[in-house]
Order: sequence, then C-alpha cells, then structure tokens
Amino acid sequence: MPEQNSISIPILPEKATPLPVLTGMTLEEMTAFMAGLDEPGYRARQLYAWIYARRADRFETMTSFGKELRARLHQSARLRSLQLLDTQTSEDGTIKFLWRTHDGYNIESVLIPSEARDDQDEPKRRTICISTQVGCPLDCKFCATASMRLKRSLSAGEIVEQFVGVEREAGERITNIVFMGMGEPMLNYDQVFRAVSIFTDPDNELAAARHITVSTSGLPEGIRRMADEGQRIKLAVSLHALTNGMRSELMPINRRYDIAQVMEAVEYYYRRTRQPVTYEYILFDGWNDTDADVRRLARITRRVPSKVNVIPFHEIEFTNPTGISARLRSTPREKFDLFIRKLRDAGVTVMVRSSSGEDIDAACGQLAIKHGATALHDPAGSIAAP
Ligand code: SAH
Repeated sequence: MPEQNSISIPILPEKATPLPVLTGMTLEEMTAFMAGLDEPGYRARQLYAWIYARRADRFETMTSFGKELRARLHQSARLRSLQLLDTQTSEDGTIKFLWRTHDGYNIESVLIPSEARDDQDEPKRRTICISTQVGCPLDCKFCATASMRLKRSLSAGEIVEQFVGVEREAGERITNIVFMGMGEPMLNYDQVFRAVSIFTDPDNELAAARHITVSTSGLPEGIRRMADEGQRIKLAVSLHALTNGMRSELMPINRRYDIAQVMEAVEYYYRRTRQPVTYEYILFDGWNDTDADVRRLARITRRVPSKVNVIPFHEIEFTNPTGISARLRSTPREKFDLFIRKLRDAGVTVMVRSSSGEDIDAACGQLAIKHGATALHDPAGSIAAP
C-alpha cells in the first residue's frame, strides 16, 4: 500500500501561533473574533468600520473604543501583516510598492495614478494593480513573474492590505482595482473573491464592482464561477495568440484549456452577466502581429461584445530568459501602429495599454523580485502547485 501523503507544515520564522490578522476578515469573522473577547456585535461592526471605511492602521486611533479594549485588541490581534520594504517612483508617476509577508516573501503592487478620463467631471482615476500569489505556476513565456514559480497564494487579508497600504502611502483614494499583478487570480479564487466582497461592500467605500477587473490567463472554471457571482466585476482574458499551436508555446496552460474552451467560458460569462469582455493581446514581433492575426482577432472578438487591449511587450531581460522567452521581441512602433489601424478597420474596439512604469520594471508582466525569489525560508516544497 502506498504511504499516506503526509503534509509537512512549514516552520515559520515567527511565533508558532501568530496572532490573527484583522484586515481581510469579513464582518462575520470579526463578530466571532470580538465574541471571543466577550464583546458584543455592535463593537465588531465598529471595528469593521474602523478598519475598512476609516482605514485605521493603528488601534490607538480607534477612539470609539476605551483604552482597556484597545489594549486587549493589541494583545489578541494584529491589524495588518504586510510590511512595506520599499517604493520606487517612475518618471510617469507610476509607483511600485514592495511588501514583505509575515513568512518572509516579497510581493509587489503598482499604483498607476491620474489616468486621463474622457469625462472631465469624473474624479481622476487612480488604479492599483494587485498581486494575488507569490510568484505564479503558469509559466507564460513572456512574463517575469513566471521566473519565480509559485511560492504560495496570498490570503484575502494580504490582498486587501495592498489596497489600504498603498492608499495610506500615497495619501490619496484609489478608484480602480485590476488583478493584474503577480499570480493567477483564478488559482486563488476563494481568497480573491473574499477580498472582492470586502472591496465592494458599499459601507467600506473601497471600490465599486464596476471598477474592479479580474484578469485571467483563461481558466474556464474560474471564469464560469465568476459569472455566477452575480456581481458586475469586469473580466479580462489574456489571449495573446489565436492559434492553439502558438498559444500553447507562449502559454503552456493552453495545452490544458485551449482557445475553444476559453471562448466557451467567455460566452457563458457574457450570457450570465451581459458585461463586455476585454481581451489582452501582447504584440510579439513576427509571432502574432500578421494580417492573418488581425483577421482571426476580428473574428474571435465578434463572439461577444468586447474590446481588445493591445499591449506592447515589456522586456524581461532581467530574469535572464532562455528558450522562447529569450527570443521574444516587441513589435516595432510602426508595425504596432499599423496592426492597430487594421484591427480598428476590421471593426474591433481597440485600446492601447500604455507602458506605465516600464523604467522601474513595474509595467504589466514585469513584476518579479530581482535577485531571485527572496524568501527567508521556502515552504514551496510542501505546497503543490495547482
Ligand atoms: N495571470 C493573470 C494576471 C496577471 S498578468 C493573467 O494572465 O491575465 C497581467 C497581464 O500582463 C496579462 O495580460 C499578462 O499576459 C500580461 N503580461 C505578462 N507579461 C507581460 C510582459 N512581459 N509584457 C506585457 N504584458 C505582459
């Protein structure tokens, strides 16, 4: 008989039983936590409001609680768990935030400020690009995060903390959230959507569902689950190639879920939500930027109301790429512009994603911790990549 799988529990560098972290808890969880301190439900609701709506980052500022309760909270919980290690500001105003997790991993978030809006009356858009995993298991050949492989998934708290932490550092409210940082959100579905439920709780004034975009490499099960949530969160699908041969080379996940399966899930999403879909499409010189690709892209995007986000390829030289990764080049400017013109002529709604933060390696797909995947210890061996 085969030996039973034994789960090895990593030894954390801190206390064996770390205190619970409050950021990331739902109201129900906070109610249970406060009940453990013999505090009534209304106190839990106050705590919830302090943490999310009022963005309190210290117990001392929670003035509706007496000194004694604040001291007990101090002893029994921590407000947050991420530690800000560093920030880097790009020439274009993009800011990259480097965080250290409680177990010694580094993750990144990016704040893309003040994007122009068509409607002058709307407040300026400030978008946070949030990470959902430490590294990523999917191995897309063009993505820097892939070089880290998957260390672990982030908790809902670590996801929400990136938002409240960046707001605090920036001193400005964030208006939009894109799940386009490190990791594949659909492989961390429960924690991502628990964070989304906290973001979209109207009492918290964090972000409206229509201002949140979940970007996926195309995992059909996740797309269908998201469609069934009944929320107006936006879906973005990283397409990048229109034949299975090429897509499988660039994105190995395509061998498991091919373009047809991804598109069936996208159609399901549209039928359920009636929300247009965004396709992300990076242009690689000589790979996916031909006239045949324009025709294929035009055909595929007709299946449900959609737009295409054409993204310049951001170099990932710093990861010392090998194989295909080392051969990928961005499409030269003129050819890039021509591709977009032809796509528009074919009736496709096209957006061109700017290269915000490229000079600080904060652009899309450039998030990877340099100098290797810094971790004080590496429990990855005990966590199976999904
Ligand atoms: N795993 C999710 C979300 C993270 S990546 C996904 O695949 O969608 C966010 C976006 O950045 C994706 O569209 C991804 O394909 C793109 N991207 C990755 N590497 C890139 C690079 N080097 N240059 C430009 N875009 C990149």
